[in-house]
Amino acid sequence: MCGIVGYVGKKEAAPILLDGLRRLEYRGYDSAGISIIENGKIVTVKATGKVVELQNKIGEKKMASKIGIAHTRWATHGKPCDKNSHPHTDCKGNISIVHNGIIENYLELKDQLQKKGHKFTSETDSEVVAHLIEEFSQKPASTRGDDRSSTRGGLDFRGAVLESLKLIKGTYGLAILDRNCPEQMIVARLGSPLLLGVGKDEFIVASDASAIVQYTDKVVYLEDGEMAVVSADNFEVFNVKNKLIKKEISKLDWDIEQAQKNGYAHFMLKETFEQPESIANAMRGRISKTDGMARLGGLRDVEEKLKDINRIIIVSCGTSYNAGLIGEYMLEEYAGIPVEVEYASEFRYRKPLLDKRTAVIAISQSGETADTLAAIREAKNKGALTLGIINTVGSTIARETDAGIYNHAGPEIGVASTKAFTSQLTILTLLTVFLGRQRDMSLVTGKRILSELEKIPKHINEILSGDKEIKKIAKKYANFSDFLYMGRKYNFPIALEGALKIKEISYVHAEGYASGEMKHGPIALIDENFPSLFVAPRDSVYEKNISGMQEIKARSGKIIAIATKGDKEISKHASDVIYIPKTLEMLTPLLAVIPLQLLAYYVGISKGYDVDKPRNLAKSVTVE
Ligand code: GLU
Repeated sequence: MCGIVGYVGKKEAAPILLDGLRRLEYRGYDSAGISIIENGKIVTVKATGKVVELQNKIGEKKMASKIGIAHTRWATHGKPCDKNSHPHTDCKGNISIVHNGIIENYLELKDQLQKKGHKFTSETDSEVVAHLIEEFSQKPASTRGDDRSSTRGGLDFRGAVLESLKLIKGTYGLAILDRNCPEQMIVARLGSPLLLGVGKDEFIVASDASAIVQYTDKVVYLEDGEMAVVSADNFEVFNVKNKLIKKEISKLDWDIEQAQKNGYAHFMLKETFEQPESIANAMRGRISKTDGMARLGGLRDVEEKLKDINRIIIVSCGTSYNAGLIGEYMLEEYAGIPVEVEYASEFRYRKPLLDKRTAVIAISQSGETADTLAAIREAKNKGALTLGIINTVGSTIARETDAGIYNHAGPEIGVASTKAFTSQLTILTLLTVFLGRQRDMSLVTGKRILSELEKIPKHINEILSGDKEIKKIAKKYANFSDFLYMGRKYNFPIALEGALKIKEISYVHAEGYASGEMKHGPIALIDENFPSLFVAPRDSVYEKNISGMQEIKARSGKIIAIATKGDKEISKHASDVIYIPKTLEMLTPLLAVIPLQLLAYYVGISKGYDVDKPRNLAKSVTVE
């Protein structure tokens, strides 16, 4: 999510770190910060906002040092502000850390550390790392008495980091300084990217190659569970068991732009491929298997009120609206609460009838969508409980709603939403389990949904591995100018989303329809030049979809079908089939949308369009 950069070598660290941050800024720009070791002391400067704010704050300050770490933040825990900015330090300012990722058990660790006397200054999950290292660096309590200022006597820098990492659950890319080891930087990764650029008498560590390529083309890729101890003339990599690992130095031939896209041609493609990870992030720390329950910290304050809710209205726009529609099916079927989904832009222009027992849920990637914000304000005025499903921490909607759940999908740069959509569906699933279990959902059902949800990232990886096939199909259909997208029940909104995607990216006219509606109008359009796409997994409405396909085929219409792996029958009806793995019916949208994102992408590419910046569109629509 965020960007990390670290330097140790013979040059001045600060300019290299700031330059690296600027190049990593696309990964997040809630705040930026830097720590260096100057005259035996850790000096830290942080600023809310973009890197330029940090630079202004540093101003003429010298910051003379050959070692340092820096961070550009994309907040997950704690709003964007100076005190929550990285780097974070321990109580005495001996340790400084920058962190990318989420520490799931930070509340538990924070509590234990506070009981031992540690003083925290931020609301972040990350700060626990600095205090843990401090704790392990100190003499054991029995030998140190009450004097916390006594110098080390506990573990050395590496030992303290290693022991700390053993206690952390979640994901991290970390770069760490210890003022007692002013020539060494320690970096570690688990689930967040980190690579080490190898220069001449210098090393640059960063979250991605864009901060490294201008200095060196030699890199060492750290793997999950590895930790590197880096000084100006040497580096050593250890695994969690403290075993020395031999690492290969690889050659990087990317330019900066390619590096920012992690080698993908476009952000949209990168973000499509990131979905196994962003979905895992959306559920991280939120699944309690033993009691078949979702743990949603952001709803804690309104938990009691939610027990009393008897109606939900979801307000949203565009892709988020399509996610809301799927939420409607889930919440009604499994939580037993009546749900309406409204375009936010319509909601406040009619007279919505709301009361205290209505929850109004806003879904917005940016948390700044003007229509959705206005709808939430209207709902609040009318006394409804307001909730947000938002990707951007601290955004206006996140602040103005009574409670909410963050997506943790990381910044989405491609204008057409991909990973934010699937993370919204993941959150809606968790919310369904949460509200359902508050009501009469059984333990077994709760467990079943959660364990199937946990398999979704693996299923998506399987679909993504068939990318070449999807590309071929896209090429075959790229010259048609009209499409009908159809689906039923849970996948009706996926038909809408698939049609929206191809419109946005490829400027192809496409209509999304509930397949049952086809015979009430759109079938009049069908001929051999008007192909249809059916989302038809093996679910409770499979036969109905097959009938619809036969009706299209009888009128010489070409059909692409999205079907469940192993379904042999469907190829009798469809000209082309893309298979998705089997899952629970309510979760099929999470899988079915992936080929539709790729289809839109490849059709757009084959026409030579700029898929990351489709014409006439903006990423965050902050006007009405
Ligand atoms: N979870 C950390 C925070 O909210 C790190 C977020 C990031 O990766 O930028 O500060």
